[in-house]
Formats: sequence, C-alpha cells, structure tokens
Amino acid sequence: QVDDFDQMTNISKVLREKLRTCAHMRLPEIESEQRSSDGTIKWLIRLAGGNAVETVFIPEDDRGTLCVSSQVGCPLDCSFCSTAQQGFNRNLAVSEIIGQVQLAAQRLEHDPKKNRRLTNVVMMGMGEPLLNFDNVVAAMNLMLDDHAYGLSRRRVTLSTSGLVPKIDQLREVNPVSLAISLHASNNEMRNVLVPINKTYPIAELLDACRRYAEVQPHGHITFEYVMLSGINDSVEQAEQLVELLSDIPSKINLIPFNPFPGSDYKRSSNNAINRFRDVLMQAGLVTVTRRPRGDDIDAACGQLVGKVEAKGLHHRKRKESQSVEVRA
Ligand code: SAH
Repeated sequence: QVDDFDQMTNISKVLREKLRTCAHMRLPEIESEQRSSDGTIKWLIRLAGGNAVETVFIPEDDRGTLCVSSQVGCPLDCSFCSTAQQGFNRNLAVSEIIGQVQLAAQRLEHDPKKNRRLTNVVMMGMGEPLLNFDNVVAAMNLMLDDHAYGLSRRRVTLSTSGLVPKIDQLREVNPVSLAISLHASNNEMRNVLVPINKTYPIAELLDACRRYAEVQPHGHITFEYVMLSGINDSVEQAEQLVELLSDIPSKINLIPFNPFPGSDYKRSSNNAINRFRDVLMQAGLVTVTRRPRGDDIDAACGQLVGKVEAKGLHHRKRKESQSVEVRA
C-alpha cells in the first residue's frame, strides 16, 4: 500500500533507484465521494481529458465488495441502463482499472468505520469489460496475484452482456467467476433490452456458458435478470427461463430495476418479483433477489454515469440509425 519507491524497503536499493528512473506511481484522483445511508461509498474518479468514472464499495456483514469500471461510458446500448445513455469515450488503461482497487484499499484502510475490508471485486461498474479484454485481464491478474491483492478466482467476478468469443477467450486465459446479463427469456425480448443479442443470440450465449461452467470456480454461472414491470416479469417468462437454464449449473440474481432520469421503465412490484422467484426456486434454480444498495446516492446497478465526453455520434443518433454492431 505504499506509493513511493523509497518506501519499498523489501526490494534492493538498486532496484528502487532503477524504478525511480523508468516508472512512476500515481493514484487516480477522487473528484467526489458520496456515502449512502446503507454504508455504500461511491467515488467519482477523475481521468485525464475531462472524463470521470465511478467506483462503488458495498459493505456487507461477511464481505466488502468493490464494483469496478472498465470503460468510460459504454458502447452497448442496453435500454434500461443509464451508463448506456452517456455514450462511449474510451477503454480504461490497466493502471486506471487496478488504480480503482488500490485507491479503495487505501481509503478503506484509513476509514473511521471498522470492518471495511475489501474482500471481493466485481467488474460490474461502467462499461462492458469484455470489450476491453486485454486491459481487464491484466488488471484481474493483479487482483489475483499473491504479490498484489491475492484474491481467489471465486472473489473476482466479471459481468458481461454476452460477447460469446470473448467469454471463450476468458475461459482459456483467466476463468474468474462469470456473471451474464441475461435479462430476458427469449430472443425477441432480449434484442430490445440487450441489443448485442442480435449478434450473439441466447442459444449461442448459453452454449458458451456451458463451456465456461466446466472451469468456473464456483461450479455455476450467475445469471443477472433485471426486473422490469410488465416487460420481462411474467410467470410465463419465468417458466421460459427455467427451460433455458435447466441443464446449466446456474444461480439467478434478480435485480429490481433501478430508475434513472429519462427512463421509461418501472421496477416490478415486490409481488411480481416474489412470484417470479418462486417459479424459479420451485424448479430447483438457486435464486437470489439483489437488494438495491446505495440507490440514495445513485450508486446502484445501472445508475453509474461518471462524466463521459461521448465521441462521434450522440447516443440518440446511434439509436435512430441502429448502427451499433459490436463484433468482438
Ligand atoms: N456491462 C456489463 C457490466 C455491468 S454489470 C454487463 O452488462 O454485464 C451491471 C449489471 O446491472 C448488469 O447486469 C446490468 O445489466 C444491470 N443493470 C443495468 N442497468 C440497470 C438498472 N437500471 N437497474 C438494475 N440493473 C441494471
């Protein structure tokens, strides 16, 4: 946790001097820090060029999870996600990704509240991590390295909207815990909610998940499913989901929709969420409803916006022309 080569007394003086001439250490700067009434902390992290990304720490009784961003904005256009509305600027560098972890670890070490330990990392902040594959993998390698953060693969989770070839590549190079933003039980609905589905439809995605499940450290894949009132929360859709996932070792995470300015969607009622969950559970699928954390400071799933100097066509234009086709 030191940020000065001179303080690295466990390496030789010669090496320290050499490092001083060829490298520098600089933590990202915090533009603002917000604290939720539930203990969640959100940092807005300033990057060169006027952009900023958000990093969120979520304390729980038995763990502390850091939600890390991988891109400035996001080029995918999921209709229910506020990061998508920001457009896209660029990928984060390895240093900017691992810098979020380093920064949080340092801040938490000095936090007046006790038991604020960083035990888990989820690549679930701004951006699609598999579109920034090399940098995300390099940063995750540091999270796992015993000489760095020493986290186990079970404690590092990457969430993706489903870039099939990159899921296969991740399986080969660094099979951390995998979460899939499924959100729909058929292609017609998923094409609307998660447009990358037009490129990699559900059947192809689930085949990649079957392959990944063989190496996945938990032995199961997590499937995220946002609960949107009247859109994807019917009993019939729950039954379709059961069918889809019947032969994949899965855990389902139901995420009550978190609203943001300008969104037309509504969160499903608790009744609808419980009814949906019961169908899945009765079919033997492990199902957990994710409690919204930090929503009073816009730190919950899908509420991270940062400051994105969007490049090229503005988001709305892109939407009109439907020209976004991202092939990994
Ligand atoms: N781009 C990656 C990482 C984001 S993870 C991915 O798509 O998986 C954040 C999770 O929150 C994803 O499952 C995302 O679909 C979900 N999400 C996005 N907007 C949301 C919202 N408004 N309410 C609830 N969940 C949302």
